[in-house]
Amino acid sequence: MQADGSLWDSLVFNGIDELDVEAVTHAFGTVDVVARGRAAGAACPDCGGFWERVHDCYQRRLRDLPLGGQNVVIWLTVRRFICDAADCPRRTFAEPFPRLAAPYARFTTRLNHVLEHVGLALAGRAGARLATHLGFGAGRMTLLRRVMALPDPQLSTPRVLGVDDFAIRRGQTYSTVLTCGEAHHVVDVLPTREAGPLAAWLTTHPGVEIICRARAGAYAEGARLGAPSALQVADRFHLWQSLGRAVETCVAAHRDCLRSPSANDSPPLAARSPADPQDDADPAGRRAERKKAAHALVHELLDQGHSRRAIARRLGWGLNTVLRYAAARRWQDTFRENRPRPSRLDPTSHTWSDGLPQDARTSPSCTVNCWPSTPRSPTRWSVPSSPPSDPPRRAHHPRRRQCGR
Ligand SMILES: [Zn+2]
Ligand SMILES: [Zn+2]
Repeated sequence: MQADGSLWDSLVFNGIDELDVEAVTHAFGTVDVVARGRAAGAACPDCGGFWERVHDCYQRRLRDLPLGGQNVVIWLTVRRFICDAADCPRRTFAEPFPRLAAPYARFTTRLNHVLEHVGLALAGRAGARLATHLGFGAGRMTLLRRVMALPDPQLSTPRVLGVDDFAIRRGQTYSTVLTCGEAHHVVDVLPTREAGPLAAWLTTHPGVEIICRARAGAYAEGARLGAPSALQVADRFHLWQSLGRAVETCVAAHRDCLRSPSANDSPPLAARSPADPQDDADPAGRRAERKKAAHALVHELLDQGHSRRAIARRLGWGLNTVLRYAAARRWQDTFRENRPRPSRLDPTSHTWSDGLPQDARTSPSCTVNCWPSTPRSPTRWSVPSSPPSDPPRRAHHPRRRQCGR
């Protein structure tokens, strides 16, 4: 297919006036555009003189944005000019096309711009899949290189600084990310999650007034050293996370207090013997999976001959945590210790729940297994802690992103 050069000139190189289209051919889903520079000569990049004497020519192949679903390849004839300036160290130089493509580039500048946007939105693999559908044919590393080549944005020191750690490799390598608490963008990344780098960063970036940080002691120390006048606060996400963990532990410890709806007639807690099959049933759920994996890991390392202290160092866990898992023969045993200890009220709990005569509940002389009693004690134990009411409105746990706001 041959076409009018000036039409293609305006169609393909709209806004790029340094080129003349010589020929356009179309075959096998690809439009090949043969073009060459329009100017008579070019300026030497070293001495700046304008020279027109041609040394030789060569051809560059440039991928361009697709046209009507067809790939576009620009075959660009590049002239090499001779610099005739006696005092210039350069003898020859290639004709530049600054508006079309960078030197040595294999993609046009406008295609690279689109790839930058795809890479910024979707990063490597997902971006490469989209680029294939759009006809750009760029691999994931190409997209990542485009993103990495972008200049870093120049950010000012934030007034409210968010400090948190993140895993580069979970369980192995952790770094610290610093965010702006007001604009919600990343300010900097520190190589470790220790106090030193944070203190150094705060020293070189004065002006932080509030540090909204994770609850690690290293961050507290780093903030104290680097910005002693800044106010330190715990961020909402970590408060919710700590609360969630505490509630999970508490609820798991009181599992036996919950009656399943189908087992209304099961014996009360105190009447159940320790050999009940329900006691031996393996705990299930995410927490159980975590404990199972941790127990297996600790015992595997013990079998390899590591000391408990070395295991704690290697895993980055507290020594007490490692000792607890090491002491437990089976992983299920790590649950047992969280269960409520027997209370001296246990033998009478069914009596209280069945109800007592009014005089017994209020009698000053009523004691339970020598429990020191005041006139109000039996009443406190016999009435429900809160009056029955409508089912509570379900509270939504905030998502990670909401906590960051
Ligand atoms: Zn020169
Ligand atoms: Zn309980």
